[in-house]
Amino acid sequence: MNQQSTTDSRGGALLDSRPPARVLFGKYELGRLLGRGASAKVYHARHLDTGNSVAIKVFPNPRRHPAGPSCSTSTYSFLREISALRRLRHPHIVRLHEVLASRSSVYLVIELAKGGELFSRLKDRGRLPDDLCRRIFRQLLSAVAYSHSRGVCHRDLKPENLLLDDAGDLMVSDFGFSALRSSPDDNLLHTQCGTPAYVAPEILQSRKGTEGYDGAKADIWSCGIILFVLNAGYLPFNDQNLMSLYRKIYRGHHRCPRWTPPDLRRLISRFLDPNPNTRITVDDILRDPWFARGFDAEQLATLMRPQIGDGGLGTKQHRGRSSGGGELNAFDLIASASGLDLSGLFVEVAMDREWFATAEPVDQLMGRVEEVAKEEGMVARREREKGSSAVVEGENGDFVVRVEVYRMAGGVMVVEAEVGGGAAEKGFWRDRLRPVLSGPSHPPA
Ligand code: ATP
Repeated sequence: MNQQSTTDSRGGALLDSRPPARVLFGKYELGRLLGRGASAKVYHARHLDTGNSVAIKVFPNPRRHPAGPSCSTSTYSFLREISALRRLRHPHIVRLHEVLASRSSVYLVIELAKGGELFSRLKDRGRLPDDLCRRIFRQLLSAVAYSHSRGVCHRDLKPENLLLDDAGDLMVSDFGFSALRSSPDDNLLHTQCGTPAYVAPEILQSRKGTEGYDGAKADIWSCGIILFVLNAGYLPFNDQNLMSLYRKIYRGHHRCPRWTPPDLRRLISRFLDPNPNTRITVDDILRDPWFARGFDAEQLATLMRPQIGDGGLGTKQHRGRSSGGGELNAFDLIASASGLDLSGLFVEVAMDREWFATAEPVDQLMGRVEEVAKEEGMVARREREKGSSAVVEGENGDFVVRVEVYRMAGGVMVVEAEVGGGAAEKGFWRDRLRPVLSGPSHPPA
């Protein structure tokens, strides 16, 4: 979190790890430290093949630090982050390029946010003018609604985790606290996480044995706090004393500064509703006059379903098992992480993916995906410029399945399917789509 910070009271095992080598795996040249948080250090790096800049987030390898004070936090945070980011491709969410691991560390190679933290921008300027506030907030809402539609709740939304690209556009990062929903019935979470000033009241009240909270509604609360901070330049609920802070949050009483326009005041108060059941929803936000100002229906639709470019490194990403050279990828790491129960985190991600080979051309495969989706009243959206990936969505924008096709040597295509967690999504894939894409299925190695 603190850029270029030299001390870290929360680093635990992180502090014990030696500085990483200057060239990693013969692929990345490591540069300056961009920042550090409780679980990882983040470095600037250059991809040697393409010269592209990336950010590399370095976590201590839990196998090397099994008894370290931050072991469980860092273990789970990098696995959560990998699980979440593998599901997400959105212009306002940092992209995970690949995962590498050595004996001492795990490296997440992620898209570089060249503009740094939104937090620093706020510290410099105090607050944002109305138009800029609206632009950034729209991008945030688009990213958050998209994550929710992919079954990912961030649970730690705050300006420090909102980064900017070189054009000043938003990039949501740090999914280390995120939660994955494996099915629509699996909505309620119990874990208390996040940063107190941004945390929804129902999370503060949530304990094991109670009903739990809806992570998506809790994210909407945090968006409301961020909206307040962008406009005001300070927090709506603040107190040195934690109990007093919690009381303020439970009551939801806040006071907007005098410059906040009346329509924005109304919108903020609908976000900061302590009752998650009456709190504003994404549909309501899209209809709100402050949020929608200057946008017609088409522009709003584009905002919520943006085009997604390749965004890659220009090289094939590591998939499956890596070979030789002492390198490990995330899958090797999980397979070898004896003594740590990682099953709950990764099983689901492995289970909802499937690979098979076929000789059919990409266009034909993608055409079939579109055809079947149409027949079933769904929408298939191509995601890459070359059209080698398509996401099928239900009528209400829910994620159903992503089909991605990789060209291998000898004209062989490998189809990777990621299937949504519900029975309907699985049925659609098994009974409708997989048969027409043909080929026997092989569960992941
Ligand atoms: P936390 O303490 O919230 O768990 P963390 O250990 O997960 O944090 P991050 O918050 O992801 O670490 O990263 C620490 C800092 O590194 C960020 O606050 C930011 O300044 C910088 N950083 C992270 N990701 C990137 C990126 N993709 N591009 C540029 N800088 C980044």
